Amino acid sequence: MTGKKMIQIAIDGPAASGKSTAARALAERLGGYYVNTGDMYRTVAWAALQAGIDPDADPAAVVAKLPAWDLRLQAEEGVLQLILNDVPVPQAAIRAPEVAAVVSQVARIPEVRDWMLDRQRDCRHLGIIIMEGRDIGTVVLPDATCKFFITASPEERARRRLQQAGEVTPGATLASVAADIAERDRIDSTRAVAPLKPAADAEIFVTDGMEKEEVADLLIAAIKRKTGL
Ligand code: C5P
Repeated sequence: MTGKKMIQIAIDGPAASGKSTAARALAERLGGYYVNTGDMYRTVAWAALQAGIDPDADPAAVVAKLPAWDLRLQAEEGVLQLILNDVPVPQAAIRAPEVAAVVSQVARIPEVRDWMLDRQRDCRHLGIIIMEGRDIGTVVLPDATCKFFITASPEERARRRLQQAGEVTPGATLASVAADIAERDRIDSTRAVAPLKPAADAEIFVTDGMEKEEVADLLIAAIKRKTGL
């Protein structure tokens, strides 16, 4: 363990705010591990759908299934692979619009959030980690070295999401995508446990009109100021 830098960077923000792109860029530039906690909630939502559960109508059925799901982040050649019951989680499946439509209902179940915490924190020993989600700075890593909250206007976020192939239903329009992400943000920010909000000590960035590299540059500058990296 000696000599290993232990740095935790928490990035929170609403749907399609550009936080994944920024977090991935930071991981690459800092030589750290990128942790996408949204993918972890998406995996539970996907597994629930596969088990024939409607998470909105029957949250108790999701909770009853938790012991059957072994969800882990496994370090493989510098990246963390999400594993469910010994099988790598297929990205295309968890990013499908059907999963996006129910993930916030799954993520507001208190037992699911509680179950998730140890699984998210498990990677802290790895060294430099860049973790993104909704409650990283507030709940998952309250002692993180740097905390950022990344957001953008609803219109900008809808535009960005519409450009992400495979994440919207065929025929989706700017208005329908905007409505979908607004509904997800509403559920995420009004839930009782660990709602979406900036940590009191987070730096907030509004990224409308900014290029991806610009966002990453701003965050890197803030991290350097704080850590001397
Ligand atoms: O980041 P992404 O949009 O993929 O996250 C999908 C959903 O997972 C969010 O809308 C939210 O409901 C849930 N989530 C959460 N807490 C996190 C990360 C994601 O509740 N830390």
